[in-house]
Amino acid sequence: MLVDAIVVGGGLVGSAIAWGLQREGLATVLLDEGDLAFRASRGNFGLVWVQSKGLGAPHYQRWTRASAEAWEGLASELAAGTGMDCGLRQPGGVHLCLSEQEFADRAARMARMKAEAGNYAYDYRMLDAKEVRDMLPGLGERVVGASWTPYDGHANPLNLLHALHRAFKAAGGRYVPEAGVTGASAAPRDFRVSTPAGDFAAPRIVLAAGLGNAKLAPLFGLAAPVRPQRGQVLVTERTREVLPIPTTSIRQTDDGTLLLGDSQEEVGFDLHQTQDVMAMIAQRAAWSFPWIARLNIVRAWSALRVMAPDGLPIYDESEEFPGAFTANCHSGVTLAAAHARLFAPMVARGALEPGMELFSARRFAA
Ligand SMILES: Cc1cc2nc3c(=O)[nH]c(=O)nc-3n(C[C@H](O)[C@H](O)[C@H](O)COP(=O)(O)OP(=O)(O)OC[C@H]3O[C@@H](n4cnc5c(N)ncnc54)[C@H](O)[C@@H]3O)c2cc1C
Repeated sequence: MLVDAIVVGGGLVGSAIAWGLQREGLATVLLDEGDLAFRASRGNFGLVWVQSKGLGAPHYQRWTRASAEAWEGLASELAAGTGMDCGLRQPGGVHLCLSEQEFADRAARMARMKAEAGNYAYDYRMLDAKEVRDMLPGLGERVVGASWTPYDGHANPLNLLHALHRAFKAAGGRYVPEAGVTGASAAPRDFRVSTPAGDFAAPRIVLAAGLGNAKLAPLFGLAAPVRPQRGQVLVTERTREVLPIPTTSIRQTDDGTLLLGDSQEEVGFDLHQTQDVMAMIAQRAAWSFPWIARLNIVRAWSALRVMAPDGLPIYDESEEFPGAFTANCHSGVTLAAAHARLFAPMVARGALEPGMELFSARRFAA
């Protein structure tokens, strides 16, 4: 089947890009491996988060801010086109500090983020214990302060994924499940891939297969040295208490449950959950808000982040085979708007914009 563009990977990154391409008028096919694959998109925490992104990498800070700013438009467009509510709330967010050392480290980090932002306004405040208590009633004695920015928020990531798929199909895109790419041939602006669901050809291809990109990218003259990083998440029963704004590791969903998370573990492709990590997550949540200790945990899971060696996204275009692109990141909820509304139009035009080379995997070779 010949189309204008192939996107490999039907997670949050691939779906946002595929919808963006279809929206640009390109007949696009979205190929996805299936339910057995590792899928960060179905196991994440749902933050649309800005405040800690891009230390030492102002281009990533700007990219994240641009996405957070475009998120409201994304959510409205998805709601209008699919009837689905992505649950976006952007009331700002806090990072709670549970010791003087954590507070000092956080203050230093936020000051550096602001300095690196240059002319780009970066509004933040370090809140002392009283100020955070005024903002978040029910806070525990161990909380010594917090950082706050107005840019942060959260969303329902499963609704987002579902809405992106629906919008893509409604715009005329073709989604093919059980279509893991098993073979490929590449020539400039001429790509062919084989899958159990058939063969596909196009002058453009975007590799957005999450951890699967590590194997696929070299077939197209690209590199995607991503590794798995495990995160565990706990869900409480619904609670009467209201958490008005999300924190880095505690947020309240629309239906009243609390999500507690999320660990950062270097354990390869091991998807087990472990008691010690779950206990640590629950303990920190109860230190932050003692009333959480009386809630039952009703669900828990682990999932694998898609992590580059320096933690930043990888966006690239192949020098050897023009028309082939990669996209990998560990903040696919936050960056969904950037992928659909900024990245996809660049691919549609045939080249990434100046400035995007800072995200190239060539930075690792250097
Ligand atoms: C615990 C945890 C918490 C997180 N919290 C947040 C958060 O709060 N905010 C945020 O912004 N981000 C968060 N993330 C990160 C976010 O979930 C990921 O950045 C995002 O889901 C990555 O999406 P993806 O599409 O690249 O990868 P995936 O979701 O892994 O999807 C990759 C897809 O590619 C397909 N695939 C793989 N190989 C092939 C192949 N050969 N052919 C065809 N298809 C293939 C798979 O079937 C899969 O569907 C979190 C992640 C985790 C694990």
